[in-house]
Amino acid sequence: MEAGDIKSMTLEEISAAMKELGEPAFRGKQVFSWLQRGVGSFDEMTDVSKSLRARLDAAYYIDAPSAARKQASKLDGTVKYLWELGDGSCIETVLMQYRHGNTVCVSSQVGCRMGCAFCASTIGGKVRDLRPAEMLDQVIFTQRDSGLTVSNIVLMGIGEPMDNLDNVLRFLELVNHPLGLNIGMRHISLSTCGVIPGIQRLAELELQLTLSVSLHAPDSETRSKIMPVNRAYDVEELFAACHSYFQKTGRRISFEYAMIDGVNDSDWQADLIVKRLRGMPGHVNLIPLNDVAESPLKPSRRVRQFQSRLESQGVTATVRRSLGGDIDASCGQLRRKAMENGKKGQL
Ligand code: SAH
Repeated sequence: MEAGDIKSMTLEEISAAMKELGEPAFRGKQVFSWLQRGVGSFDEMTDVSKSLRARLDAAYYIDAPSAARKQASKLDGTVKYLWELGDGSCIETVLMQYRHGNTVCVSSQVGCRMGCAFCASTIGGKVRDLRPAEMLDQVIFTQRDSGLTVSNIVLMGIGEPMDNLDNVLRFLELVNHPLGLNIGMRHISLSTCGVIPGIQRLAELELQLTLSVSLHAPDSETRSKIMPVNRAYDVEELFAACHSYFQKTGRRISFEYAMIDGVNDSDWQADLIVKRLRGMPGHVNLIPLNDVAESPLKPSRRVRQFQSRLESQGVTATVRRSLGGDIDASCGQLRRKAMENGKKGQL
């Protein structure tokens, strides 16, 4: 029998497994909380009998990533980790220190198959989905390495969460659990490039998390050019899905908008955003484009004008403060570099 991924299991599943092993149900709680604390082996579970530890060890494995690389910004305390997983794949996690708490940016896949023109994460395509434990470990091990308590999570690292939604939902359940890291849904954001069925599924669940939509262009023509996903899920249908999401959940959606010179920074595009948001409280987060060496796209010089154009028409727009500018701290850039240098980025 192949060993099972015990850290991806919910408390209920672990408790049921304990019962099958002839153990009392409360053992499940013990094992679950040890796992959530990041133990590397069953032997560290000191309040579990030796014989049970041996039986667990035969039936399950416990993931533990190793830090292949770590870069700390001298400018603002941002730390970027390149984790090497069991199969040699590498993923990135970023720790950002804000006044309102420490935020961890979590990856959901090894690579990405969405193909956005401005994004470094997608350049080598998707290698595989991350399992729930591999997402959880990004939080646990970042916390452990930095000695800081993580209070917020953004699913904005490498990968498209909606393309791995079952595992992402399970990760959310684990990270939210009172016996685990206990991070409240209101402190979690999930970002999608606009995979409509995923948005609809999330709406049904009515979670208290914040949905972020990577918009980057309000018109079909531009959006299809820079985001291939728009050819499958057109921006007009995307906004319809966002309106339904708001009606169902009452939660305000945040729209990410990387400002690209001469591509999506015209006044008419700001006006179109205003029009599409009518009837829904949206928040537009303008991101100064991060220069990706492989891409011909350049940062816009009209960020402030674009912002005032939105604001003067009643749409809340903020400009994202850029952190970690000295450490390639964005969008798959560190993994990309490691791949070029021949480090196992699963090449
Ligand atoms: N796949 C999801 C999660 C990734 S989130 C999504 O697309 O939302 C990462 C965010 O950074 C997305 O909004 C993405 O569009 C944005 N991004 C990617 N490359 C960027 C770049 N070069 N400059 C600024 N933002 C970028």
